[in-house]
Amino acid sequence: MDRGTRIAVLGAGLAGLTAAGLLQRAGFSVDVYDQSPSFSRIGAGIILGANVSKVLRRLDLEKAFAATGIRPDTFLSRAWDSGEQLYRLDFDAECEARFGGPFVNIHRADLHQLLQRPLAPGTIRFGHKLAGIDERVDGLTLHFDNGTRGEADIAIGADGIRSVTRDFILGAEEPRFVGRSAPRAVFPASRIKGKPIADCTKWWAPDRHTLAYYMTPDRNEVYVMAALPAARWDGDGSPVKGDRDEFIAAFDGAHADLKRVTEAAQDVTVWPIFDRPRSDTWYKGRVVLMGDASHAVRPFMAAGGSMAIEDAAILARCIAEFDDPATAFARYTAIRIPRVADVQEISIANSWMHGPTETDWFFGYDPCIVPLDRVLPEATCPILKR
Ligand SMILES: Cc1cc2nc3c(=O)[nH]c(=O)nc-3n(C[C@H](O)[C@H](O)[C@H](O)COP(=O)(O)OP(=O)(O)OC[C@H]3O[C@@H](n4cnc5c(N)ncnc54)[C@H](O)[C@@H]3O)c2cc1C
Repeated sequence: MDRGTRIAVLGAGLAGLTAAGLLQRAGFSVDVYDQSPSFSRIGAGIILGANVSKVLRRLDLEKAFAATGIRPDTFLSRAWDSGEQLYRLDFDAECEARFGGPFVNIHRADLHQLLQRPLAPGTIRFGHKLAGIDERVDGLTLHFDNGTRGEADIAIGADGIRSVTRDFILGAEEPRFVGRSAPRAVFPASRIKGKPIADCTKWWAPDRHTLAYYMTPDRNEVYVMAALPAARWDGDGSPVKGDRDEFIAAFDGAHADLKRVTEAAQDVTVWPIFDRPRSDTWYKGRVVLMGDASHAVRPFMAAGGSMAIEDAAILARCIAEFDDPATAFARYTAIRIPRVADVQEISIANSWMHGPTETDWFFGYDPCIVPLDRVLPEATCPILKR
C-alpha cells in the first residue's frame, strides 16, 4: 500500500505493538490506541519459541529479548504424581539452529517494554478506549470513550479477547468460558525449599495441569500457573483473589518436586479461561483483526501470544506488499487461518508436548519469510490429519 496510508492500531498488546513497530519500519505512519492509562509491571509470564524470536530479530530486539527473559535449558513434561518424564525438549545449540532462534520465557510486562522501544515517540495514545468505528468510502473515524476521535485509512483491531473491533466486524458475542480456571502466582525463587526447580516443567494430571518456570536470567522469579476444572464462572474475565491452601490442595498427592512449587506460591490469583470458537471472518472493508481479537485460544499450548506476533508479522508484510486493503487482508487471512486453526485445535485437545510431539512445523516457522502468494505446506500441522 501507499506509504501515505494512515494506519490505526487498536490495542497495544503483543500483536499491536509488534505490528506497529514493523509497519513503521516499512515506512508507514501508525497511531496506536490503548485503553490503559499507562503500562505497569503487572501480569505474569509467557513462553515464546523461535518462531517469535525471528520476528523480534526484524525489530532488532532479539538480543534484548533473550537477555531480559530466561533461555530455559529444557521443557519437561512430567506426571504430576509419579514424576515420570513424559516428554523432554532440550533447548541446546542444535535445537536453536534447527528452529532458527532461541526459546525465551519472560515476564509479559518486560516484553511489552521491549516492544515499545522501536516505536517513534508519541506513537501510543494511552487512555483511549475504542467505543465504535464509522466506515466511509474514503476512510474511517474511530470513536473513543474519552470523547476524542481518530481518523485513519485502515484500522487493525488488536484489542484482545473482548475486542470492540471484533464487535464491529462480527457483531457482539461474548467469549466462551472453557470450564477451567487458572490459579496463578509469581514469587521469588528463594521461597522454594531445597534444590532449584527445572527451568520449565508442565505437570500433567488427568483433569488438570500445572506449568512452572523461571522468568528471569538469574532464576530469581518463578511463575506458576495451573488449569483446574471449574463448572462455571460468575463475572467477567477479571481475576479474583485466590486461596493458596486451595491451590496446594488441588494437587494433593503430588510428586515432591511439584509440591515444593505449589507450597512456595504466594498471592495466588484465579483467572477464568476463555477462548473464541474458530471464525474465518477476520476483516471487513478497511478494518482487520489479529491476535486474540480474532482467535483467542485457551492457553494450554502456550501459543496465543506467538500467534498474535506471527499475525503481526504477516499482516505488516501484506500491507506493505499489496496495493489495497482488500487484497492485503485476503492474503493475510489465507496465510494465517490454517495455521491458527491447527493451534486452536491442539489447544482445545491440550495435547501439546504431552508425549512425543512433532514440533518443527511450529517452532521452525518463520512468518518473516514465508511466501505471501500461497499457503505453504509448512503452515499446516502434520500432527492433525485433516
Ligand atoms: C493464563 C494465560 C497464559 C498464557 N500463556 C501464554 C504463553 O506462555 N505463551 C503464549 O504465546 N501465549 C500465552 N497466552 C496467550 C497470550 O497471552 C495472548 O494470546 C496474547 O496476549 C494475545 O495478544 P494480543 O495482542 O492479541 O492481546 P492482548 O495482549 O490482550 O492485548 C490487547 C490490548 O488491547 C487493549 N484493549 C482492549 N480493549 C480495548 C479497547 N476497547 N480500546 C483500546 N484498547 C483496548 C488492552 O489494554 C491490551 O493492551 C496465555 C494466556 C493466558 C490467559
